[in-house]
Amino acid sequence: MTTPSPYPHLFSPLDLGFTTLRNRILMGSMHTGLEDRARDFPKLAAYFAERAAGGVGLIVTGGFAPNMMGWLAPFGGKLSWPWEARKHRQVTAAVHGHGAKICLQLLHAGRYAYHPLQVAPSRIKSPINPFTPRALTGFGVERTISAYVNAARLARDGGYDGVEIMGSEGYLINQFLSARTNRRTDAWGGDLRKRMRFATEIVRRVREACGPDFIIVYRLSMLELVPEGSSWDEIVAQAKAIEAAGATLLNTGIGWHEARVPTIATSVPRAAFAGVTAKLRPEVKLPLVATNRINMPDVAEGILACGGADLVSMARPLLADPAWANKARAGRADRINTCIACNQACLDHVFSQKNASCLVNPRACVETELVYAPTTAPRRIAVVGAGPAGLACATVAAERGHRVTLFDAADEIGGQFNLAKRIPGKEEFHETLRYFRHRIEDTGVELRLSTPVDAAALAGFDAVVVATGIRPRTVDFPGADHPKVVSYLDVLGGRVRTGPRVAIVGAGGIGFDVAEFLVHQPLVDASVMEVAPKTDAADSPSPDSPSLDPARWMAEWGVDPTFSSPGGLRRPEPEPPAREVWLLQRSPGKPGAKLGKTTGWIHRATLKAKQVAMLGGVSYLGVDDTGFRIRVDGQEQTLPVDQVVVCAGQEPRRDLFEALQAAGIAAHLIGGADVAAELDAKRAIDQGSRLAAAL
Ligand code: FAD
Ligand code: NAP
Ligand code: SF4
Repeated sequence: MTTPSPYPHLFSPLDLGFTTLRNRILMGSMHTGLEDRARDFPKLAAYFAERAAGGVGLIVTGGFAPNMMGWLAPFGGKLSWPWEARKHRQVTAAVHGHGAKICLQLLHAGRYAYHPLQVAPSRIKSPINPFTPRALTGFGVERTISAYVNAARLARDGGYDGVEIMGSEGYLINQFLSARTNRRTDAWGGDLRKRMRFATEIVRRVREACGPDFIIVYRLSMLELVPEGSSWDEIVAQAKAIEAAGATLLNTGIGWHEARVPTIATSVPRAAFAGVTAKLRPEVKLPLVATNRINMPDVAEGILACGGADLVSMARPLLADPAWANKARAGRADRINTCIACNQACLDHVFSQKNASCLVNPRACVETELVYAPTTAPRRIAVVGAGPAGLACATVAAERGHRVTLFDAADEIGGQFNLAKRIPGKEEFHETLRYFRHRIEDTGVELRLSTPVDAAALAGFDAVVVATGIRPRTVDFPGADHPKVVSYLDVLGGRVRTGPRVAIVGAGGIGFDVAEFLVHQPLVDASVMEVAPKTDAADSPSPDSPSLDPARWMAEWGVDPTFSSPGGLRRPEPEPPAREVWLLQRSPGKPGAKLGKTTGWIHRATLKAKQVAMLGGVSYLGVDDTGFRIRVDGQEQTLPVDQVVVCAGQEPRRDLFEALQAAGIAAHLIGGADVAAELDAKRAIDQGSRLAAAL
C-alpha cells in the first residue's frame, strides 16, 4: 500500500473531459534560449524530459511566435512552417514518454519585440523598448489571427497536447485588450467588446481548427500593475468571453513587463498574488491556474486546499529542481532544491541573450553536457570550505561515489550565505542551506565543522579542493582605523549594532544589501551605537522584513490589496526607514548600475523609497569624531554619521592554498578563493559542481 501524499490536493488528477492531467502542477512557460535554434532541440527535449520524469503534470514550453513580426528578438523561436513543427516531435515524444502532457506557448511580442519589424494595435512606443511599432492594418489583424491558428495546428501536428495563448504581461494580445495601448477606431478597438475581439477570435478559431480534444490554456492578464490598466469588471468580462470562445484552462498573468512593481523577484512574498486568481474563480467554470512566487509544496497545497485555484504554475522552481513533484509526493519536501527567485542565471541570462540555467542547479538547460556519472575510481577527497562552492563540490563528488570530507572553520555550513540570508527580502537563502544540509546527509559527505584546516591536516587525501572563500577588502583613507569604521561582516554578523546615521563605502551587491538591512533593522536606542562581542549572527535581532508580510509589502509597492482599482494600483506608502543611510561609490554615475538586469531596478527603487542617499563620484577624505568627510562634485561635506560600514569588495583567501603549494600538495581552487572579483554564488556553485563532475 502506498503512503498517502501529504499534499492531497496537489496530487489529485484533473479531468479535463477529453484528457486527464495526473496532478495539479503546471510547469509555467519560461524562455530558455534553447527554443531559438533547431540544433538545440535535443537539449530542449532532455530538459523537458527530466521535468516530466520528475512528476510534473502539464508542461508549457517557452514562447514561440506565430510569425516573424511576433519574434521576441531576431531569429527567436517561431512556428509557422511544417518543417518547424517536425523538429518538435522529439520534444513532445520525450515528455509523453514520462507520462506528462505538454502545450506549446504561442507568444506574439507586439510592441515588446526587440527588432524593427514590431507591430501593435496602435503606434505607441513601449517605455522599455527603443523601437516604435507599426500599427497593424485591419488586414494585418486578420493575417495575425490566421498565423496563430496556423501555429496552433502545427503544434498539434508536432505532437503537442495543446497550446497556451499568451494574453498577458503586456504582449500583443494584452496590447489589444488595453485602452492604454489600443487607440483604434475600427472593429478591433474602442469599447471593451471591440478590444477583446482579437483575443476571443484567436481562441475561437484555434478551437475550431484544432478540435475539441486539444488543450487551450489562455494566460489572462488578471492584474496589470500599470496606469490605465484593466479594471476588475473588465477582467471578469474578458475571462467570461475567453471561456465562451472555447478555452480549456485559464492561467494567471500578473503585471506587464513595463510595470514598476516587482512580481517574481525574491523580495516578493510567496504566493503574494494568489488572491487575484481566487477572486476570479467564482466568476467562471473553467479550471484556474494560480502563479507567481509559488515555490514550495505547502504553499501550493494551501492555495488549492482553500479553493483559490485548480492548478498551480511554477516555472523557475522546476528549473531549480526537476524532481520537485516526485519529492513533494513522496513527503520529501525538505529535499527540494528550492528556487530562491534570484533571477541571476535564468531571466538575467535570457535578457543578456544567453541561455538560461539556474544558480542553485547548474545542470538546468545543460542536462546532456553536465552529467554526474558514477565514478569508476573512487578517491578520498578533502574539500575545505563549506560555502556554496565547497558544498556543491563536496556533494556532487560524493553523489558520484567518492569518499568526501568537508571541513569548515565555522560551526555551520554556508559561508557567506549565512550573511545573505539575513538581508530582508533574501529569506529564501535559508532554503539553499537546508537543501545542502540534507544533501550532505544523503550523499554521505563526512562533515567536520569548527575545524580550521592547515596544510598538514590534508596529507593523505587523494585530492584536495580549496574553497576557502574571500577576505573583505580593507580601505586606506585617513581615519580608516577609527572605531566608527566597521566591516559588513561586523554589521551582518551581529557584532556591531549601528546608530541612527550610517555611511556605506562601496555600492556593489553587498553595499546595497547592507543598506537594505540597515533601513529595516530596528534601532535599539537611537542615541547609542552598540559594539558588543556576539557569538553568532542569530544573536542580533533580525531586520523586520516586509517580504514576509504580503499586506505590508503591497502597501510599500502601491498594490491595491482588493485588486479592484484599474491596474490594481494605489499610492505607495513606504514605511519610514529605521536609519538615515548614505550609500557611496568612487566611480561616477548612478550606484547600482552593475546589479542584476532584472532585479537592479528593484533594489534602487527600494532604497530610494527609504530615502537612502545614493552618491557616485565620491572622494573619501577621512573619518574622525565629527563624521565622514567626503568630496562630491567638487564640494566638501561632512556626513554626521555614527558608523562607516566598509563594503569595498573582496580578495581571494588563499593562505591555505599557498601553504599547500609550499608543502608540495596539489590542490584545486574554486569559488572566491580562486577569483574574488565579480564572484557570486552562481559562479561558485557552477564551478564547484563542474569540478566535482570531472574528479
Ligand atoms: P564563502 O561563502 O566565502 O565560503 C568560504 C568558507 O570557507 C567559509 O565558510 C569559511 O569559514 C571557510 N574557510 C575559510 N578558510 C578555512 C580554513 N582554513 N579551514 C576551514 N574552513 C575555512 N551571491 C549571489 O549570487 N547572489 C546574492 O544575492 C548574494 N548576496 C549576498 C549577500 C551578502 C550580504 C553577501 C555577504 C554575499 C552575497 N552573495 C551573493 C555572494 C555569495 O554569498 C558568495 O559569492 C559565495 O558565498 C562565495 O562562495 P565560496 O564558497 O567561494 O565562499
Ligand atoms: P563589488 O560588487 O565588487 O563592489 C565593491 C564596491 O566597493 C564597489 O562599489 C567599488 O566602487 C567599491 N570599492 C572597491 N575598492 C574600493 C576601495 N579600495 N576603497 C573604497 N571602495 C572600493 O563587491 P561586493 O559588493 O563586495 O560584492 C561581492 C560579490 O557578491 C559581488 O561580485 C556580487 O556579485 C555578489 N553579490 C551579489 C548580490 C546580488 O544580489 N546578486 C548581492 C550581494 C553580493 P568604487 O570603486 O566605485 O568605489
Ligand atoms: Fe530560481 Fe535563481 Fe535558479 Fe532562476 S537562477 S531558477 S530564480 S534559483
